[in-house]
Amino acid sequence: MNKTPAFAAFSPDTPLGPHTIDRRNPGPDDVQIDILFCGVCHSDLHTVKAEWGGPTYPAVVGHEIVGRVTGVGANVTGVKVGDMAGVGCMVDSCQACASCKDGLEQFCENGFTGTYNSPDKKSGGVTYGGYSTSIVVDRRFVLRIPGSMDPASTAPLLCAGITTYSPLRHWGVKKGSRVGVVGLGGLGHMAIKIAHAMGAHVTLFTTSPGKEADAHRLGADEVILTKGGIKATPKPMDVIIDTVSAAHDLNVYIALLARDGTLVLLGAPPTPHPPLKVMPMISRRRSLGASLIGGIKETQEMLDFCAEHGIAADIELISMQEINTAYERMLKSDVKYRFVIDMQSLREKGS
Ligand code: NAP
Ligand code: ZN
Repeated sequence: MNKTPAFAAFSPDTPLGPHTIDRRNPGPDDVQIDILFCGVCHSDLHTVKAEWGGPTYPAVVGHEIVGRVTGVGANVTGVKVGDMAGVGCMVDSCQACASCKDGLEQFCENGFTGTYNSPDKKSGGVTYGGYSTSIVVDRRFVLRIPGSMDPASTAPLLCAGITTYSPLRHWGVKKGSRVGVVGLGGLGHMAIKIAHAMGAHVTLFTTSPGKEADAHRLGADEVILTKGGIKATPKPMDVIIDTVSAAHDLNVYIALLARDGTLVLLGAPPTPHPPLKVMPMISRRRSLGASLIGGIKETQEMLDFCAEHGIAADIELISMQEINTAYERMLKSDVKYRFVIDMQSLREKGS
């Protein structure tokens, strides 16, 4: 075991602070990575604040990890010491069930191992995520980072990127599709960039008037303010990607779908949305869908797609010690558009 500096939550309502965790020595199938950057996902915040049920404290979150490979086991191919590598939301799965065989490890029928707060089948206890200086991960869950990509602004692709790329692909978005994106935060800004690169006409729905100009710069063709009710009447949409982290009325978005259109829920609020009205769904054969991150093969495909199209996240680089302020700002929808922790700050100061 290796003692590793980390930042942890110790309870739902106290600030995160320094902590030391044990990382296993790399086995034959393992890749050891020095973490350089870790993105800050709203799921980290839901988890540490126990909004999805209590995590095991101390909880070390973070699942948008990019770093330098420092060790590889005997069975590892594809990455070598010195390479840049990525780790997203999963670090293990059964590899034997139908979902794993289909490359959909996020739907592993025996339960995938999350990068944080999952029972750790290899070392016991729970898994610890990227708010730490290093990690050891099974080779099947390590992503290659194309050489042209900037490591800091690539980190958010490991969750926000794949979580939006996967449903856009699954629901068949292509040139000329009409795509709506609800909420301009970490996921929302990636959804705009990726849908735009796929050739879609993109409409952003936002509660924040101040984000309009940015949305156009990111690739939105249309921006609709939602505070006080939607007054615009945009052309019916094929797919609407809902990234909002709090409960809200979905009926307003169902009403904006074309015949056979789908509202895809990505946001995972701690409380239920208000009830859905059935008639507007029946009357145009509209669907409600939902999606969870994406499989490893598709995550690599997304990274390659982003490299090809010059897509990365718009980030605010912070030190590990600034995480509590970053969470406060995230709760106020004040993120442009993903915080990324420079893990050098944890190596240097530790607290
Ligand atoms: P984020 O950066 O905080 O962005 C969420 C955005 O939603 C905000 O910027 C804001 O956009 C909008 N919003 C927030 N509160 C709202 C409210 N009360 N009413 C209307 N709009 C509101 O969060 P994120 O990291 O993108 O994550 C978003 C959600 O997706 C979280 O619930 C997270 O847990 C979940 N998630 C799901 C998956 C998955 O696999 N399905 C993966 C990762 C994250 P505007 O200012 O533009 O209104
Ligand atoms: Zn995430």
